[in-house]
Amino acid sequence: MALRKIRIFGDPVLEKTAKPVKSITPRIKLLAKDLFDTMYHDNGVGLAAPQVGILKRMFVVDVDRENSFVFINPEILETSGEQTGEEGCLSLPGKCGIVTRPNHVKVRATDLTGAEFEMEAEGLLARAILHENDHLDGVLYTSHVEGPVYDVGEYAEEAEEEEEAEKAEEDGSSDGGDETK
Ligand code: ZN
Repeated sequence: MALRKIRIFGDPVLEKTAKPVKSITPRIKLLAKDLFDTMYHDNGVGLAAPQVGILKRMFVVDVDRENSFVFINPEILETSGEQTGEEGCLSLPGKCGIVTRPNHVKVRATDLTGAEFEMEAEGLLARAILHENDHLDGVLYTSHVEGPVYDVGEYAEEAEEEEEAEKAEEDGSSDGGDETK
């Protein structure tokens, strides 16, 4: 297992356009393996080559720990629908934000055997593919985010506080004898 150093937000390599992979060399195969190792190590669902400082059009995705995919020279053929949800990135550790993306994607790419494949995905897998594909063009989710980029868990804590406040209010207003219910 080999872990690569993940480039963090602010590193100029994250804003550059990656170049096509010319052929599936042993180096490319090793890079794919290292991308998976690094992604799993950091509990990510996707990792793109530019995130480890390699400006090649290539990324890996595994959203359910059962189906792992390598996308080389991917091309987004179609998108449709819409999904809005929390999104994070291993290049912005501990942060997340709300991003709206298509819910469905059709993508064409090359795999590690050099074969071309087409794949359709939706939901989280579609989100991951589109997020990683953006990395190949130097685009981070921060340019799609609605509202602030916040600390992971911050919103959950806020929701919890709100819940507690509501509960306190309920308790306060239940002086009329609701407690006996
Ligand atoms: Zn990312």
